[in-house]
Amino acid sequence: MGKIEDLEVINGEGYQLTTLDKAIGLARANSVWPLPFATSCCGIEFMATMGSAYDLSRFGMERLSFSPRQADLLIVAGTISKKLGPVLKQVYEQMSEPKWVLSVGACASSGGIFDTYSVLQGIDRIIPVDVYVPGCPPRPEQIIDGVMNIHKLVKHESSRRRYSDEYKHLLSNYDIETKESEDVK
Ligand code: SF4
Repeated sequence: MGKIEDLEVINGEGYQLTTLDKAIGLARANSVWPLPFATSCCGIEFMATMGSAYDLSRFGMERLSFSPRQADLLIVAGTISKKLGPVLKQVYEQMSEPKWVLSVGACASSGGIFDTYSVLQGIDRIIPVDVYVPGCPPRPEQIIDGVMNIHKLVKHESSRRRYSDEYKHLLSNYDIETKESEDVK
């Protein structure tokens, strides 16, 4: 037995064995395409995270997508007003599966200091969130930590999870329909 990153593999002379799930997870985790949904100050911190000093390209993530259909990680950074909520939800729904959500900062995660009539008190009221990054604003190091936690989820996710009843139930709580593909079932 051996390891590639933190995945168990069986080593032989001239070969390594692992499961298809683990190989897919490893490939996905090292080629995440983020879609930044940045509305305010936390968005500036995310820009700093993308810059050369912090360098998200070390994870193969330098290719930001501004088309939801070509992204698999939604990074929500900033205050989300209730009026903007349906737009965020539509962007999420337009992303294809499998997809993950990183909530950056207090505003996106809980409304932050804006406990007012107009601000959504956390994006998890309208879409499921995988990882939360605390802070107002979080430093780039914290955002990178959040990204690495997303990588862990991606790497260890079963390729069948998105077709499970549990996942359908999760999305149905948000009034979101799952798009099933018969050929991968
Ligand atoms: S959490 Fe703080 S820094 Fe981030 S968007 Fe809200 S007010 Fe700005």
